[in-house]
Parts: sequence; C-alpha cells; structure tokens
Amino acid sequence: MTQRRKFLKQVAGASVTLPFLRATKLTSSKSKSYPLPIILCSRGENWGNKLLPVAWDKMHETGNILDAIEVGANVPELDPDDASVGYGGLPNEHGIVTLDASIMHGPTHNCGSVASMEKIKKACSVARLVMERTDHMMIVGEGATDFARAHGFPEENLLTDRSRRVWLKWKENMSDHDDWLPPADGDYGLEKRPRGTINVLGVDSKGDVAGITTTSGLFGKLSGRVGDSPIIGAGLYVDNAVGAAGATGRGEEVIRTCGSFLAVEYMRNGMTPQEACEAVVKRIVDINGGIDNVDFNDKIVALSKSGEVGCASIMGSKEGPPQIAFVTKDGVEVVNGTWLKEWS
Ligand code: ASP
Repeated sequence: MTQRRKFLKQVAGASVTLPFLRATKLTSSKSKSYPLPIILCSRGENWGNKLLPVAWDKMHETGNILDAIEVGANVPELDPDDASVGYGGLPNEHGIVTLDASIMHGPTHNCGSVASMEKIKKACSVARLVMERTDHMMIVGEGATDFARAHGFPEENLLTDRSRRVWLKWKENMSDHDDWLPPADGDYGLEKRPRGTINVLGVDSKGDVAGITTTSGLFGKLSGRVGDSPIIGAGLYVDNAVGAAGATGRGEEVIRTCGSFLAVEYMRNGMTPQEACEAVVKRIVDINGGIDNVDFNDKIVALSKSGEVGCASIMGSKEGPPQIAFVTKDGVEVVNGTWLKEWS
C-alpha cells in the first residue's frame, strides 16, 4: 500500500471538538500534542483528504518539510474547482485573476512572497523561489510573472469559465448606476461575496517548522489590491522556536493586527495554539469596537513546534464550525475550531 493510500483514512468519527468560544469571553483551552511530523491545512475533511496525503508522501520521499507543504498547497492551486486559490480563483473587479502567496522556513527564518501575480498557477512555488533564489523577499505584479517565467513556469489563463460567470454576475448586479445589466429572466443575485485562501503549516520529525499561505485574494478587489496572504507576519508567520500561524478571511483586518505574527508571539509567551488563535480573533474584534460592529470573517490557525493545533474564527458558518485538518502517522484528522458569532 502506498503511503498515500495508507493515510487516506476516513476521519468522521475520530474528530475532536475544541472548546467553544462564546461571545467575547474566551474559554481556556486544553491542549494535546500530536506526533511529529505533522502537516496541517486550514480546511476540513474535503480539502484535507485531497492535499494532506500528497504532502505526507512528499515528506517521506524527500524528508524536506518545505517540499511537503509546497506540493500540498499546489493541490488547490492547480484545481479549477477551488475558486479561491490559484487556477480557477475568483478575479479582481476587472475580471483578472491575481494571486498572492507566501512561504516561511523556520530553521533559516527566511521567507519569500509574490503579490498581485497574474498568469502563473503555482503561486506558492514562485514564492519559494523568491525565498531560495533571490536576495529579496517579495516580488509583485508583472515582476513576479517575469520572475516565474525566468524559472520556466508556463504562463496560463487562470480564469475558468465558472469563475468568469461568477464575476459577470457580480459585475451586472453591482449597481443601478452603470451600464451592466443582468439578464431579464431568472434569479441572478449573488448571495454572498465568496472568499477563501489556504494555509498549509508543518513540523518535521526534528521539530523544524515551515508554512505557506496562498490565495487569489478578495473577489472583486480593486486592481492592485494586496491582502494579508503574501505579507509575512499578517497572513503567515513561522518561528522555529515556537511554531507557525496563518490567516484567512478579511485581509485588511489581519494586516492591521499583524495576525499571524501575533498568534506566534502569544504562543511564545505561553499560550496554547488554540488560546493564541482565539486571542487574535478577539483582538480583531476589539479593534473594531466589539462583535456587534463586525460583519466580516477572519480565521486564524496555528501549529506549535511540539504538534499542538489551534483554530478560531470570528464567524461560524451555515456549513458548521471553522475546521482544520492535519496528517500525522495516525492518518488525517479533522478538528473543529471555535467561533464568536453565528454568520448572519
Ligand atoms: N485573506 C484573503 C485576502 O484578504 C482572502 C480570504 O482569505 O478570503 O486576500
């Protein structure tokens, strides 16, 4: 049996529920260390089962945690069915898909990122090359595409027909004061502005830590807008003495709280990953004047150097609590995070 098949274990009955976070009163969180190596993604069962076994196989093939998290993050980047990352990602206001991604390596404390990059599917792989093959840390826009081309990445159209249709629907329903018109027949309204990003964090068997965040960013964003995902300390942070954290959701709020850095610093000061995620969520809410003023979502995930996990968000969703999935020698497991308020 291949490692991949062996680790495609069903997780339903085995899931653990992390403490429920009520209103603004945080509960203290029990912490359990899972065995190393461990690779975590900021999504539940569906994507966990798609990408974690691929990352796990790579981990065993090369022994390199960066290789493992990179191939894991490449899975949604290459999948046209994921509308928030890489190929098939939802576009900006002009219908152009632009990608943001970052990577950070604990042992060297090195990092790399790309922002507002067009035409290249594997944004996190380009971020890794910025880290490993340049003396810079961030390359944006056309420069990022040029850099990727120099490294042999093919230039491709990232806009799938599905994402184009979602964009067109949004565009046509935006305003009564422009010349875009929705078709006369049928229900053509958009329920919610779709969002998404993925964080992939890992610790190898020696306790070395690494992380990736990759996204197509906020749907319908202004041309040139960059979110938290490619900003080290905001959408991603790794410290080899402590662990890693990543963020998804409204990037502007994560940038102004240095959300991932803050989570790692909270862990350095003794919080469990779960407590740290909840504290960052609370900080975002407090900065906005309390939960009643908040109509957006942010989700923070964290992994400690010793294999403890955490996940908290502002909003729960109709589909259920925020989730993470992770893989260890015992297989893929899904855990529920905590949240402050029901999605309204
Ligand atoms: N954090 C991403 C951004 O602001 C979007 C998201 O995760 O929904 O670009």
